[in-house]
Amino acid sequence: MSDYKLLINGKLVAGDQTMDVLNPATEEVLAKCPRASKAQLDQAVAAAKAAFPAWAKTPMAERKKALNAIADVIEKNGQELARLLTQEQGKPLADATGEVFGTAAFFRYFTALDLPIKVIDDSEGRKVELHRKPLGVIGAIVPWNFPLILMAFKLPPALLAGNTVVLKPAPTTPLTSLKLGELIKDILPPGVVNIITDANDLGGALTAHPDVRKISFTGSTATGAKVMAGAAATLKRITLELGGNDAGIVLDDVNPKETAPALFQSAFQNNGQVCIAMKRLYVHESIYDEMCDELAKLAKAAIVGNGLEQGTQLGPLQNKMQFDKVKEVIEDAKKHGRVIAGGAAQGGTGYFIQPTIVRDISDGTRLVDEEQFGPVLPVIKYSDPEDAVARANASPYGLGGSIWSSNPDRAYKLAVQMESGSVWVNKHAELAPNIPFGGSKSSGLGTELGEEGLAEFTQLQVINVAR
Ligand code: NAD
Repeated sequence: MSDYKLLINGKLVAGDQTMDVLNPATEEVLAKCPRASKAQLDQAVAAAKAAFPAWAKTPMAERKKALNAIADVIEKNGQELARLLTQEQGKPLADATGEVFGTAAFFRYFTALDLPIKVIDDSEGRKVELHRKPLGVIGAIVPWNFPLILMAFKLPPALLAGNTVVLKPAPTTPLTSLKLGELIKDILPPGVVNIITDANDLGGALTAHPDVRKISFTGSTATGAKVMAGAAATLKRITLELGGNDAGIVLDDVNPKETAPALFQSAFQNNGQVCIAMKRLYVHESIYDEMCDELAKLAKAAIVGNGLEQGTQLGPLQNKMQFDKVKEVIEDAKKHGRVIAGGAAQGGTGYFIQPTIVRDISDGTRLVDEEQFGPVLPVIKYSDPEDAVARANASPYGLGGSIWSSNPDRAYKLAVQMESGSVWVNKHAELAPNIPFGGSKSSGLGTELGEEGLAEFTQLQVINVAR
């Protein structure tokens, strides 16, 4: 028996099977979790389909009220959700608290948006209007690094636009989503939101389901490609937020001591398990040694531990698979560069890795070319800024990037040459609900957040009336 339940058609139900969810800091079983069967997935989609016509007709003001009520209930249960998030995901409690309250803020943000009818031609011969209609059932698929906030990229705009949803969190972090299901059960009409869990085996069926009109997916590039293929037969709409290998480029006019803390945070926040973490850092040769030393100092001073303990800055890696992968990437990096901080797993229980800085490493190595998705940063020397931008762009990924300089105009000229969906100047990885977010190249398809993100949960309809 599990303390957690699926949410299907407004009811909390047991899974047809169960699975264990581990706490990555202790490797102990945190909870028995329901695991939905294919039949339960079908029930969830059927419930969402049945709920759609009435929800689509519900006035926007009512839908906004529901989003605000969800934000209220998240805030009211914020401490409990944050503790659970730390236990299932690993991140420090302060970060988990930030994620929970950020999730509520994302729900509230969307209540400020509308989908007004836009008149684009009002002439003697015709009146042409653009309407934004809901699509139907949305499949929302979320990864394990930010289970709540990434869900909040999807649910609020989907619901505001009049769609209904089947949400599937990642198998290693399902508990906060299931808890959310309990909390919102009576806020929404039955079937408007359904939450199911799996052991990485239902994503394909959700993607291919003929009654699902759109998949909003966040996860790896490899799985994103499977989603795209799976959606093809039914011509589903898809939004794909995928992997990244964000470059940061530090110009020669930067003060290493002053800038290193922000660079460190950009790379090591959430243990580097952030799609838009800075994953390779290009530093001008004139300040290279000093910057490497400053970053190594910060890495050595970082407190790694159980996220529930006060003072912890970096928790464990989220799961064993990622833990093993990052260790492997570090071992490989040792052959191609010099480790000046960290370099190993902590030993003992839990998926802990000391924050690792690797210098004297270059492009053409796993650590630089691949998405490491963990607490290890390669620092690469360059001499010509244009060349650094070219190297940053020579990647199949194109999610984010940043330029750091004491001269913002100089940085801006390089920023516009970056081939990524987001580019920051003197910061990295800043996201906000009103700022559209999406990847170029293999980092994704489409946009989330902001008005552009809301529009992706709608079908454009043109009404053209003769006069
Ligand atoms: P993943 O692709 O393994 O899993 C993501 C989700 O997809 C999970 O819920 C999983 O169960 C599901 N899934 C698995 N197989 C599926 C299939 N065949 N069809 C449909 N869904 C399927 O990713 P992950 O390891 O959980 O997350 C890490 C990755 O996510 C990294 O590459 C990271 O960069 C990326 N990410 C991207 C963003 C972004 O906004 N661009 C944000 C966070 C994470």
